[in-house]
This record gives sequence, structure tokens and C-alpha cells, in this order.
Amino acid sequence: MTNSTNQYIKPITTKINASGNIEIGGCDLVDLVEKFSTPLYVIDEATLCGICNDYKKAFEKYPKVRMMYASKALCTSAVAKLLSDEGFGFDTVSGGEIYTVYKAGVDMSKVLFNGNNKSFDELSLAVELGVGRFSTDNFFELALLNEIAQSKGKVVDILLRITPGIECHTHEYIQTGHLDSKFGFDLTQIDEAVELILGEYKNLKLYGLHAHIGSQIFETSIYADEIEILVKEIVRLNEKYSLNLDEINIGGGLGVKYVDSDVPPSTFEIGDIIINKLNEVIEKYNIEPPTVFLEPGRSIISTAGVTLYTVGSSKQVPHGRKYVAVDGGMADNPRPAMYQAEYLAEVVNKKESEKTEKVTIAGRFCESGDILIKEIELPELDEGDILCVYNTGAYNYSMASNYNRVQKPAMVMVNNSSADLIVERETLDDLISHDIIPDRLRL
Ligand SMILES: *Cc1c(COP(=O)(O)O)cnc(C)c1O
Repeated sequence: MTNSTNQYIKPITTKINASGNIEIGGCDLVDLVEKFSTPLYVIDEATLCGICNDYKKAFEKYPKVRMMYASKALCTSAVAKLLSDEGFGFDTVSGGEIYTVYKAGVDMSKVLFNGNNKSFDELSLAVELGVGRFSTDNFFELALLNEIAQSKGKVVDILLRITPGIECHTHEYIQTGHLDSKFGFDLTQIDEAVELILGEYKNLKLYGLHAHIGSQIFETSIYADEIEILVKEIVRLNEKYSLNLDEINIGGGLGVKYVDSDVPPSTFEIGDIIINKLNEVIEKYNIEPPTVFLEPGRSIISTAGVTLYTVGSSKQVPHGRKYVAVDGGMADNPRPAMYQAEYLAEVVNKKESEKTEKVTIAGRFCESGDILIKEIELPELDEGDILCVYNTGAYNYSMASNYNRVQKPAMVMVNNSSADLIVERETLDDLISHDIIPDRLRL
């Protein structure tokens, strides 16, 4: 079977050019650094469009699939515009993400709003902007959303997020579908929720069920198990309450390849498993094909992104490690500190020389845990060298902070030898732009 883009560590356009430097999207990374400085996030448009096509191709045999990019992986206006042009809808989890996709011109009927504690203001904004589906998570939210919809004279379209009780073997923090989870209704609470929607909550219209099992998933069987549970529940609810529920949302979670030992399945393999399972349950329960929502985040954007850093100080611990520090770290990529995540890096401006050394890549932030890569073999590094860390498109910028009062990096999108700035680097004035010194302290 052919590979899909999430199965590569590096953007598909990555190569060594005539000057001996690494280039991506036809842009020499040394030139990018000269122009835009570091740390710098780089998004390769060809890789991003590549994975979009992989997903579309993988599901072309099942036309009732709705692709929703999980924007929490990376939500910027340009990325939203591009994915919208690719035909994707958006899974959002905050007023900020909803506002971003709205301002980018996204068709709001293709937006879904998720989350376990959506606020009054966020739900109100979502109702006002015409968000297409609300994945309701708990009893509190059902009451709140109904009240908001009623006050605006609208009926809103919802799914019920359920906890299907499937375990997956990923990191504990990124498992969400097991029984003791903060997300969604327990299977035993579904009927009570449905009865409220059919009775008291006249401004909510139920279309189906939603589950999301976890992230960085390599086990293909999980999606089949999930479809079995969701479809079985829908069939049961349709019979018990004479409903026509015909939507299931099976979430996101497909993994990517951060390092050589990661072997994620392809979109094509996942597509075949999902479609085969759907055909099986359609026949078994004798139902019309349900509409299936997919919400991939990481697998859409991760491989397209890299981060460029400049090497600064280094330290050889006597009889110990050699630390090489770069000008970014846990504030622009918190994943190693949070999840012990691993990354591959290469030196942009040096050939794979014979002389390599084993080093630890340290960040610049004031935490001993701010280590980007624990151990990696690289050409000997000098101050001023440019390091490229691969597969940083997802959950890097979107999780970035201003820790240590450091400005967030810029982001460029590269394609066909041109580079466009899509997020400006923060300035020192941006950092203090929301600060207020009360008058009484000025006296
Ligand atoms: C985070 C999340 C996703 C996306 O997960 P990825 O692992 O990035 O694909 C999809 N759906 C829901 C409900 C999520 O919380």
C-alpha cells in the first residue's frame, strides 16, 4: 500500500540543495533565517495539501464522510483559509478558535464546537455565528446551550459526546475515551440526556453521537471498535425513541512519525478499516449509511511543520553530557517537557560530516526540564549554526506561551520557492501591551 504523508518524519519537499543546505518548499532554510530570524516555525504547503489529499483519497469510497480539521493542533488564519479551500470543516474547542476560522472566511455550518466546559460567552458566540454542530459534553452544557438558543430564538444542532470505554495504549494524558474520563456522557447517562433533549430542551436538535479516543494512535482496531459502539447506540436510540439519528463522529487521533521508531498507519489503511467496518454494521443493522465525521488534527498539520533555531552556548559536563542550547525551547514547544515527546533534528548548514557527536539539545528557558532532545547524534555544533527540528506543526505554536516573557516566534508558509509570513513575530511592546500600572502606584 502507498504511504501517506503522516508516515514521514520530514516535510515531503525536504532536500539538500546545491549550496549544501537543507531546503523545504524550495526555500533554503539559511535564507529563511536571514530574512525572518529564529526561532521560526515553517509550514510546508505541499505537505499540508498532500495529507489533505491522502485523507480525501482514503475515504473517496464512502461519500458520507465529513472531514473536520481539529484546529487545536494549529489554529492560525492562513492555515484555516487553506484547509477550508481544501474542503475541510473545523473542529473547534474555544471562542478563540471559532473567531479565528470565522474571520478567515470559513463556512460556519462546517464548524463543530467541542469541549467539556464551554462558557456562556463562547456558546453564545457560537450560536450567533451559526456553528453547524455542537458536540455537547455534559448535563450542565445541555441546559446552558438550550437556554442560550432559546434566548436567541434558534434551534441548534447537536451531537452527544460519549465515553465509549475504549482504552488505547498512548500516553496517559492524551487518552480520552476510557470510562474514567473528564470528557463526555457515560454510556449509562445517554438515555437521560436524550430524554431531556426530546422533552424539556426544545431548542436542541439531536443528530447523533460523538466519541474521541485519544491522540497519537497507532492501533487501527480502535476505530472499528468505536464505530461498533456508536452505531449500536444509535440503532438502539432510534428504536427506543423513534428517532432518525444518522451521524457519528469518531474523533481524530491518527498518529505521526516523530522519530524512526514511530510507525503510524497510513490514512489509506485507516480509511479501509473504517469503511469496511461501516459496511459491516450497515448490513448487520440494516440501516442507511450514517454520516461520519472525522476530526484529525495532528496527522494533518504535524509533518508539514518544522522549527528553526540558532545554536548559542554549549556546556560539556565533565565526564557527562554535552548540552547545546538553542534560542527557543519549552515556550515554543512544550511537548518534550509535558509528554517526554521525542523529535528528530538536523543541522541546516552542515553536511552529514564524518565527525559527529552525541549531544543534548537544551532550550533557553529557566527550567531544568527544558530539554528539546535528550540525546541525538549531530555534526559538531558551533554557535550560529541553524538547527531544524522536524514534525513540529501540531501542538507547538498552539501550545506556545510567553514563559520568561519571551516573544512567540514568527511563522512562515513555504511553497514553490517562496515564503510568506503567516504569523508575525511578537515584539517587546506586544509583551507589555495588556499590562496596566494602576494610577495609585504612579503617585
Ligand atoms: C484533540 C481532539 C482531536 C484531534 O486529535 P488529534 O490527535 O490531533 O488528531 C479530535 N477531536 C477531539 C474531540 C479532540 O479533543
